[in-house]
Amino acid sequence: MAQNKSDNYHVYKAKDEAQIQQQFLRGTKDPDFGIYCDIFSAKTGFKGQDGGVVTELLSRGFEEGLFDAAIVVRRMEGYSAEAVLAQDAQDVAAAKGTKYLKVNVTTKLHELISQGKNRIAVVCTPCEAKNVRKIQQTLKGDTEITVIGLFCFESFNKEKLKQEIEARLGIDIDRADKTQVRQGKFIIHVDDKEYSCRVKDLDGAAEKTCSYCDDFTSQFADISVGSVGSKSGHSTVIVRSERGEKLVKNMKTAKETVDKAEVARLTKFKRERTEKNLH
Ligand SMILES: Cc1cc2nc3c(=O)[nH]c(=O)nc-3n(C[C@H](O)[C@H](O)[C@H](O)COP(=O)(O)OP(=O)(O)OC[C@H]3O[C@@H](n4cnc5c(N)ncnc54)[C@H](O)[C@@H]3O)c2cc1C
Ligand code: SF4
Repeated sequence: MAQNKSDNYHVYKAKDEAQIQQQFLRGTKDPDFGIYCDIFSAKTGFKGQDGGVVTELLSRGFEEGLFDAAIVVRRMEGYSAEAVLAQDAQDVAAAKGTKYLKVNVTTKLHELISQGKNRIAVVCTPCEAKNVRKIQQTLKGDTEITVIGLFCFESFNKEKLKQEIEARLGIDIDRADKTQVRQGKFIIHVDDKEYSCRVKDLDGAAEKTCSYCDDFTSQFADISVGSVGSKSGHSTVIVRSERGEKLVKNMKTAKETVDKAEVARLTKFKRERTEKNLH
């Protein structure tokens, strides 16, 4: 029987992903978590979106000389954000916090590689983590790339999000000190006040491509970090490679238990949404 478009897509995708896993990752293969060798929850002493784990990993990575450049995503004017070069812990701290936007990091990566940087850490969403691996597969020589992937259910179109927030909450997201998605709510902090609405109510502002994305936990990263599965103010960390293990070794933070069932639930939920949208 002839294969349909969706079957072809799945065969191609599986082959592509198996190659990335074989080349860069190490650990046990799990249907929900992907390849991993450790999973834990942590609250660091660093200020950050949740447990400050990404900020600690990057800061200690610089301290220990594991990389000499990092690509982080920094707030620009209003709620806009851009991938920028960080060269020390101060640059890393200036980029803390989640911007719920789809930000391209690969252009910056190409730029740094062409400038001769060859030990680079990249913080990115799952879609970008896969793109970074594709670039890494084409590199020759001694370029070392460390991928810190974030969990991601969806991201938003900046302009549509601004309009939707203004209409629903009467505030300007450009003035937000912090934005957060937690337990189905989109929360905005402005001038020490907290505003929130259901994330579901912001569906119209979500990036359309996100509805076809099935990776919740950045399965192709060296280390994945998110909040689902951990207490408020903590981060969930999934270690997926030797490089990831090396980074985690430098953390001066106690490991706590993760609610793995909750991570698996969200992973399945995102995968099922994608399957539905693809058919
Ligand atoms: C679009 C998006 C959606 C997310 N959705 C979920 C979710 O549904 N469930 C969940 O558990 N976690 C989600 N996260 C991850 C979560 O919000 C935190 O980023 C993560 O828990 C790390 O927390 P931390 O305290 O270690 O971060 P911090 O120490 O504050 O560091 C955050 C790092 O993220 C980088 N960053 C910020 N915004 C972006 C961006 N748009 N693209 C790439 N890098 C960025 C910054 O450069 C910074 O280095 C999402 C992240 C993004 C970017
Ligand atoms: S949902 Fe997928 S496509 Fe959308 S920003 Fe997150 S990782 Fe990228």
